[in-house]
Amino acid sequence: MKQTIIYKLNPTIEQEKHLHNLTSIATKLYNTDNYIRRATWKKCGKIPSWYSQKKKVLKDNHWYKLLPSQTAQEVTHNLQGAYNSWFKLRKKDEKARPPRFRKKEMLSPISFYQQFKIIDDKLKLSMSLKYRKEHNIKSLELNFNEWKKTSGIPKFCQIIFDKGKWFAHIVYEVEETNIKLNRNIMAIDVGVINTAATVDNSGNSKIYSGKQILSIQHYFNSRIARVQSKLTKQYPKRKWSKTLQRLTDKKNRQIKQSLHTISKGIITQAKKSNIKTIVAGDITDIRKDNNFGKRNNQKLHSWSFSKLIQQIEYKSILSGIRFVRVSEMNTSKTCSICGIIRKNSRVKRGLYRCKICSNLINADINGAKNILKKYLQFFSIEDGSIGNVAMPLVSRIENVIPR
Ligand SMILES: [Zn+2]
Repeated sequence: MKQTIIYKLNPTIEQEKHLHNLTSIATKLYNTDNYIRRATWKKCGKIPSWYSQKKKVLKDNHWYKLLPSQTAQEVTHNLQGAYNSWFKLRKKDEKARPPRFRKKEMLSPISFYQQFKIIDDKLKLSMSLKYRKEHNIKSLELNFNEWKKTSGIPKFCQIIFDKGKWFAHIVYEVEETNIKLNRNIMAIDVGVINTAATVDNSGNSKIYSGKQILSIQHYFNSRIARVQSKLTKQYPKRKWSKTLQRLTDKKNRQIKQSLHTISKGIITQAKKSNIKTIVAGDITDIRKDNNFGKRNNQKLHSWSFSKLIQQIEYKSILSGIRFVRVSEMNTSKTCSICGIIRKNSRVKRGLYRCKICSNLINADINGAKNILKKYLQFFSIEDGSIGNVAMPLVSRIENVIPR
């Protein structure tokens, strides 16, 4: 099971210079990779695969070599992910735009897998060979603002610059037996019709409607379509304009705002119910997740889902609530009462219907219950307590976002 802990870092002025350096290099690498991909696309209508891009183009690239190999790979993986979503989108909307360039001054997050260690309560980041030579430094040994001990094994570390401060998000692999079972556990499932559904082990459940986000999308998509058709009439060759960009940005901003309201609502609810642990499906690695494909085909982009989970994770950790992820595998296909997995289960009108035990339940609540069950299974606990979930309360975001 994975557990994330967020640490604030206390870099020295010298170290901060390096962090600044490395995160700007990540932005430059992202943009270089994007530039080459776009040029190839223009030339032959194809986007090079991640592997060939790495092998042929980036291997000897200046920026690529300045970052530790896995850090550099992660940057290019992220871009590949953005291209994959674009390809899916293009099938439905040929005017969809390829991934954008990052702003020059942006400090991109940098990830470490094997090139980081925690030694004597310090975070040690190894530098690449090229960086060592150019800057005469082997590694950065950063002080934590406050050290939080955990029994897990550190697996992944991401350095993030946020509002003038440096943070390390460290993901630990925690052995199930090492986690003390808390009584108050809440599970979350994310979806399109309902942005989120929560269930706790006292039987409370709540649904956060996705109507607002869908209506934001509907509203902007039709406006965008109108502007686009006008544009094509006037200038047949032009596909994009400042107005279109402005509308797209506005749409994304409003969706983000909506997601923030929902994640805030979930945390408020969790605090009220004295929840000690929040469990979510593991969607950290979208690339490997088959379960995601189906959802991705739906109207919302995968980023909304991961954004929401990230927000909940961040806010729960800041509120002192433990946040864990369990595998999402089959959680939407399994009946939460009898445990039968239906391969081709069809959800009608947001309801999950089980033919075996005639369970009829809100599909997202069913998903959340399965996530909770998966977590409880680690402790071989019967889930009798969550068998009967009361009718969920539906939460609608009341505050209307100005357009
Ligand atoms: Zn059933």
